[in-house]
Amino acid sequence: MIDVNKIREDFPILSRTVYGKPLVYLDNGATTQKPRCVVDAITDEYYSVNANVHRGVHFLSQKATELHEAARETVRRFINAESSNEIIFTRGTTESINLMAFSFGEAFLKEGDEVIVSTMEHHSNIVPWQMLGIRKGVKLRVIPINDAGELDMEEFGRMFNEKTRLVSVAHVSNVLGTINPVKEIIRTAHSHDVSVMIDGAQSIPHMPVDVRELDADFYVFSGHKIYGPTGIGVFYGKEKWLDRMPPYQGGGEMIQNVSFEKTTYNELPYKFEAGTPDYIGSNALAVALNYVSAIGMKEIEAYEHELTRYAMEKMQQIEDMRIFGTARDKGSVISFLVGNIHHLDMGTLLDRLGIAVRTGHHCAEPLMHRFGIEGTVRASFGFYNTKEEIDILVKGIERVRQMF
Ligand code: PMP
Repeated sequence: MIDVNKIREDFPILSRTVYGKPLVYLDNGATTQKPRCVVDAITDEYYSVNANVHRGVHFLSQKATELHEAARETVRRFINAESSNEIIFTRGTTESINLMAFSFGEAFLKEGDEVIVSTMEHHSNIVPWQMLGIRKGVKLRVIPINDAGELDMEEFGRMFNEKTRLVSVAHVSNVLGTINPVKEIIRTAHSHDVSVMIDGAQSIPHMPVDVRELDADFYVFSGHKIYGPTGIGVFYGKEKWLDRMPPYQGGGEMIQNVSFEKTTYNELPYKFEAGTPDYIGSNALAVALNYVSAIGMKEIEAYEHELTRYAMEKMQQIEDMRIFGTARDKGSVISFLVGNIHHLDMGTLLDRLGIAVRTGHHCAEPLMHRFGIEGTVRASFGFYNTKEEIDILVKGIERVRQMF
C-alpha cells in the first residue's frame, strides 16, 4: 500500500503555495515533479564526480563512466530488456521517435511503404513519419477510434497489406488516458511480419513495463515523465534491428575510426549516441527508476487506478460535464469540458485556486478534430496525488461552472 503522505515529503515542491493556496499539481502528463533524491543525484554528481565519460583515463572520468553505464543497466532491468546494448540514451520520447523514423526509415522503408499509427497519437508520433513521407514517399495509415476513445481493433486487423512495414502507437493516450492493447497489437503485427514501436511516454510512469513480455521491437519514453530530469530519455530496440539500422547523428563517440576517406561506426549502443551524452541526466534517471521501483510499479498502478476511478465518479456528477476518453482500460488522465466554458477560461480560473491543469490540444490536433473540438482541460495524476486533491479539483470546477 502506498503511504501518500510519506511520499509527498519526498517532493519539496508539493508543499509550496501558489496565489496563497496550497498547490494542487494535476499536470503530471506534461511533466512530473522530482523527488529530493533525483535533484540530489544531479548536484552530488556535479559537485563531486563531474567529468566527460568514455574518453578519459583519469579517476573522475572513469567514475562518471561507471555511473552512466550503471544507469544503462538500471534502465535495462527496469524494462526487462535482454541486453544493455539495446538501451540508447536520447533527449526524450520525441528524439527517440525521430531517431526511429530516420534510422528505421533509412534501413527498411522505401517509396509506397506504409506505417500504421492511430488517431490518438501525440504530434511526436505523427510528424516524424510525415517528414519521412516527404523524404521517401512513405505513407501513413491511421487506426480509427470509437467515441469512448478505444482503438478499432477490427479495422486495425484489416489495415495490413504487402506494403505495411511498421506499426507505431502510444501505449497510453496523453489525452484520453486509454490504455491500448499493445500486446494484442504486437501479436497481430508480428503475424504479418511487421515490427512495432510503442510510444511509452504515458505508460512507463504508471505501470510495470516488460518489453520482452510485450515482445515490442521498439519502446521509447522520457525521463521527465517518470520523476527523472528533463533532457534524458530512452530508445529501446531489439538488437537484431539496431544492428541493421544506420546511425541517426554523426560525431564523436559514435565512431570507431575516422579518416577523410571513410568512417567506421562504433558498436551498440554507442553507434546511436553521437557527442557527449547527458551522463548527469542518465544517472539521475536511474535514481528516479530505483525510487519508483522501491515503491513498486504494481502498487503505483493500483493506487492511481483507484484515484482515477474516484475522480471519474466525482467528475461525472458535475452538471454539463463532458469527459473525453471513457475507455474500459483507462490510465490516470481525465480530459474534459464543462458546458460552453472555454478550456482556457477553465484552466485559468482553476489556476487561481492553486490547481495546475493543462489546457489546449495537448499536441494531438488530429484527435481534437476526431471529437470536433479545439481543446480540452486535462487533469493527470501521479502517485503523490490524493483524493483530497481531487475533491479540491471537483469543487473548483463547480465554482467555475457557477461563475458562467
Ligand atoms: N508521446 C506522448 C504520448 C506524450 O504524452 C508526450 C509528451 N506529452 C510525448 C510523446 C513527447 O514527449 P517529450 O516531449 O518528453 O519528448
